Amino acid sequence: MTAAAIATAELVVDGARGRVVDVPAIAGAALARLPVVLRLLLENVARCATGTERDAAVAALLAWPDTGTSDAEIAFQPGRVLMHDTTSTPALVDIAAMRDALAEAGADPARLDPTLPVDVSVDHSLAVEVHARPDAATVNLVHEMRRNRERYAFLKWAQQALGNVRIHPPGTGIMHTIHLEQLATVVATEERDGETWFVPDTMVGTDSHTPMVGGIGVLGWGVGGLEAQTVMFGMPTTLRIPDVIGVRLVGALPPGVLATDLALTVTHRLRAIGVAGEFVEFFGPGAARLDAGERAVVANMAPEYGATTGFFAVDAHTLDYLRATGRPEALLRRVKAVTKRIGVWFDPDASPRYTRTVTIDLASVGMHVAGPQRPQDLLPLGGTKAALAQLGFAPASRDATLPRHPVAIAAITSCTNTSDPRLLVAAGLVARNARRRGMRVPPWVKTSLAPGSPAAAEYLRRAGLLDDLAAVGFDIVGYGCTTCIGNPGPLPEAIRAAQRAGSVRAVAAISGNRNFPGRIHPDLDLAFLMSPPLVVAFALAGDAERDLANDAVALAGDGEPVHLHALLPSEDELAQHVRAAADPADYARAFAEASRNPAWRALAAPASPRFPWRAESTILRRPPYASLAREHGSQLGRYVAHPLLVVGDDVTTDHISPASAIPPESLVADFLVERGDERTDLNVFASRRGNWEVMLRAAFHNKSLVNLLRPRLPIAHTVHAPSGEVLPLWQAAERYRAAGEAVVLVAGERYGTGSSRDWAAKGQRLLGIRAVLAASFERIHRSNLVGMGIVPLRLPAGVHPRTMAIAPGDRIEIDAAPERLVPRGPVPVRLLRGDGRVESWTATAAVETAHEIELLRAGGVLPAILRRELNHNDDDHHHRQELTTP
Ligand code: SF4
Repeated sequence: MTAAAIATAELVVDGARGRVVDVPAIAGAALARLPVVLRLLLENVARCATGTERDAAVAALLAWPDTGTSDAEIAFQPGRVLMHDTTSTPALVDIAAMRDALAEAGADPARLDPTLPVDVSVDHSLAVEVHARPDAATVNLVHEMRRNRERYAFLKWAQQALGNVRIHPPGTGIMHTIHLEQLATVVATEERDGETWFVPDTMVGTDSHTPMVGGIGVLGWGVGGLEAQTVMFGMPTTLRIPDVIGVRLVGALPPGVLATDLALTVTHRLRAIGVAGEFVEFFGPGAARLDAGERAVVANMAPEYGATTGFFAVDAHTLDYLRATGRPEALLRRVKAVTKRIGVWFDPDASPRYTRTVTIDLASVGMHVAGPQRPQDLLPLGGTKAALAQLGFAPASRDATLPRHPVAIAAITSCTNTSDPRLLVAAGLVARNARRRGMRVPPWVKTSLAPGSPAAAEYLRRAGLLDDLAAVGFDIVGYGCTTCIGNPGPLPEAIRAAQRAGSVRAVAAISGNRNFPGRIHPDLDLAFLMSPPLVVAFALAGDAERDLANDAVALAGDGEPVHLHALLPSEDELAQHVRAAADPADYARAFAEASRNPAWRALAAPASPRFPWRAESTILRRPPYASLAREHGSQLGRYVAHPLLVVGDDVTTDHISPASAIPPESLVADFLVERGDERTDLNVFASRRGNWEVMLRAAFHNKSLVNLLRPRLPIAHTVHAPSGEVLPLWQAAERYRAAGEAVVLVAGERYGTGSSRDWAAKGQRLLGIRAVLAASFERIHRSNLVGMGIVPLRLPAGVHPRTMAIAPGDRIEIDAAPERLVPRGPVPVRLLRGDGRVESWTATAAVETAHEIELLRAGGVLPAILRRELNHNDDDHHHRQELTTP
């Protein structure tokens, strides 16, 4: 086994020699039965792991097709890391703080430097301050630079101080679009032991939509910032060999049905069968008929369909995409030769073994919207009225000027649905037809177009569609996440007034991927997801209850009703415009132009190896947990704790650590105003993730989150049991800490679902929470809890916070002694009631690997990295990949 596990072969492409892992030789007869994603994991462990660990991992992967599942752990070593500005800021702040800790321990701080390439896209902070005007993108960028100046200067410091960190400034686009168009190589080269290797391009990203790049055959998925830090410092990430759901696609999409419709359908189907953390691989003859742009849309929505990643193997469409985005022909030849040689080239007739298989007939997919509160709630095009009726909104007063459910925001937004040119060109053609008919968007609709990349402006301009889009209010507002991440800017005044009066319940119509209440705007709890052309149609309608399948969208300038079919382009028309508008040179040119952002260049940044923290900063503070101090070490042990919070099901990371606007009338706002900030310009929580004091106070600050410890507690408050006082969480936590008393959190199902933000775990660590007991955990949040040294415990079946009736004065005894804790092992728990009753059960450690146990023993990722750096050995560092990126 040992010899076979390291079988390699030499390949010559364009005269260049490179070594590859000979996956077919290692796998033998098992190759055809292995899903492609597992072949890529096999290649990775065969190349990167060593000794018995490698042999065991290879053996377990080869045995996987026998059962279609495995309990074995493997160490995955991705080639690079992708981050965005809001997840990278806390990670880079941690690195800055760790450099301080090393210096204080007498070591050279500069030696703490990522060993893998790290790309950071500054995309998440752009807000739609102004819209529907030609200079909207410029004005919004000025606002963004002004509001984020200090944080962006910090990112520039990181770029200068850290050798392997590359920052893509504001205006260059959305991370996953940049990734597809600029960064991904599909096959990279790597130098090891004096020899060039051709290796599959693999990565992790600190964002749950990282799998978008699986549309072009790059294996990657979203991880928390802490896991990313582990990886960027050369440690592998360990995972159980994943279950793999095979989605067999047959047939072909009907004319007029777009990739968004397919992605929403896949989301609905896979959620219905309960996908929860598996890898999803698309295969079959239908997959062969999708182009790479369409595949990327479907792969992007992996978190919405519950998967860790969504993946399409490389084929001729992948090469077409690389060519269309301006990649050199030499790269295409390398991709083709290497993927074929190592057995990961797509075969539409192949039918590997999967854990489960689902078949979707593309011909059965129609035009859809999804919502209004969950992406998996798929509706037929005309289904919005019935869906809204189910919510039973009864207006408190009448407003004759607005419909009951006005479209307040119509946003062509998100990497998901602005990266495939077909989607934006289709929207442009709807706008053109509407303009020709003299149609206007009602004044209460806030329209915006925020493409994932500046290349979109080039092809839309070439197609003559930019003016048409602008004529109906869809001027480009910038190149960033905007509405998708909850930065749509202020709602129209008419909507705000009517909502205050209770006469309307406004709705967003967006081409985003998520719509849970508050995601888009704190004052909007309804949003329909849809393709960009439908966003334009709903903007024209202005009424979210309008049945676009049967009724007129709106009136033309001459008063004639106009139906949707009169606005939508034909399949031929769409294809023709996409073809005519395409120019592969756009991608590099527009990206290079945007990268020269003069405001970014002018930003002054410190040049020292250690970051000079400013004592008065309300943006960047040195966090206490990036430390070797004992108090920040292991939280394991046997102890009795007070429940700080008891929460129900589906608590998201947005609930735990909000990203949206800081409410001006809140304790967090008071804290910042006391330190000199303007109450009217506090920016969003996400922009404060470099300031642990703010994020501690922001923890659980969400008006829809209920602390079940006692009825009607204010937002982010708890009962401090010893005194009986109701206090803000952080104050109660501080009192418990001062008294040397432990606290824990109890939660229901799917705790920590939603975005991958590690601040959700950091906030809990700062609150002193030693363990989270939950009915179930979302994958990334569970891993982030471990990363912060907090032990996640799964409650036994039948035990749930809603039935436990935990009250102030009850305490919880946990026996999580470090020497007894094993992956998925039993953990005795006793609920000590205030009246003396005792209930005992056995929880399960939601800890997946021995490596995670080690992290918990160290107190989390950061102390583990620090200890490793103190015992630094150059040989430990992994080989670097050379990426053919700009
Ligand atoms: S899904 Fe939305 S928030 Fe996330 S990267 Fe894409 S555009 Fe940005």
